[in-house]
Amino acid sequence: MPELPEVETIVRDIRPAVVGRTVMRASLSHIDVLRGVTRPALLRGLAGMRVDDLFRRAKHAVFDFGERRLVVQPGMTGALLVYDRPLDDEEARYAVLRATLDDGRTLVYRDVRRLGTLLWLDARGWTAYDAAIGPEPLANDFTTDAMRAAVGRTRQSIKKALMDQKLVAGVGNIYANEALFASGIDPSREAARLSVTEWAALHRELRRILSAAVSGRGSTVRDYRTGTGAKGKFQLSLLVYGREGEPCVRCSTRLAGTHALDARITVFCHRCQA
Ligand SMILES: [Zn+2]
Repeated sequence: MPELPEVETIVRDIRPAVVGRTVMRASLSHIDVLRGVTRPALLRGLAGMRVDDLFRRAKHAVFDFGERRLVVQPGMTGALLVYDRPLDDEEARYAVLRATLDDGRTLVYRDVRRLGTLLWLDARGWTAYDAAIGPEPLANDFTTDAMRAAVGRTRQSIKKALMDQKLVAGVGNIYANEALFASGIDPSREAARLSVTEWAALHRELRRILSAAVSGRGSTVRDYRTGTGAKGKFQLSLLVYGREGEPCVRCSTRLAGTHALDARITVFCHRCQA
């Protein structure tokens, strides 16, 4: 699933093309991506609405229409694209949501496997949605102390805690693995038991890696595409994710891979991460 850097990249790419535009009409190919809204309610609601803003929250793109917000959570194969020409057959086939804008362009949520979700929230719904998600790790007020207060109050492993959207927003398997390697912390350590020095290192490395990944336009490990349809570049800078069995870049020990911590692969170096 696209994480913070990938969704941030998509949002930055399509933002200039959609903010200030009005949706003339919309269509939806499948209803299985909808959460808490029916097709008629969504399509009726979108028609005539102006996009006041587009921003990212956690791993989601949020189209702000003033009184309503459309929250797009791109799944593994989800992408947001803006076309200034008619869609070809392949593009049309996987276009789940299509919105014709007042300048003639088409905003498309594309999702081959339809693992993503769309939410259509009023002010109250937005407040509840936003309150259920933890702080943004790249926000100015996300200090080491703020991180420790948010992520360090659980007895779960630090890896699971980092990926828990209720504790901190936007971090998934790729960047949790990378941040723990860079800060030299064993992913299985209990979050509540990290030392002050370790929190400082993890905070610094998580923010450094997420920022670098945004600059690198995200990591294309499989299906992720930017808002222009291109691949990201940051996969070339990943030091542990996808490298189990390969030598550690620091000490040459073979990197270990385990599914014991959560359902996802955890890759780490026994020697560098304590
Ligand atoms: Zn190592």
